Amino acid sequence: MAAFTCLDCGNSTTTSFKQGKCPACGSFNIKSPRSGKKEESVKRKTKKEIVLLLLLWGLIGAEFVRRYL
Ligand SMILES: [Zn+2]
Repeated sequence: MAAFTCLDCGNSTTTSFKQGKCPACGSFNIKSPRSGKKEESVKRKTKKEIVLLLLLWGLIGAEFVRRYL
């Protein structure tokens, strides 16, 4: 169960504290349930890599044409 917890008085709630402040003691020392986990997005191919790939395939194609034509 996700809960926001006040680290000063132990007050916890499933919804976020208003303005990040504990309603019981007025502390801003709040522990958020979403902290810590960070998922990296899938690695994308850069433009440079794609150009290089096309260039290599172009060279292979040119070599093929030169040999068999
Ligand atoms: Zn508190």
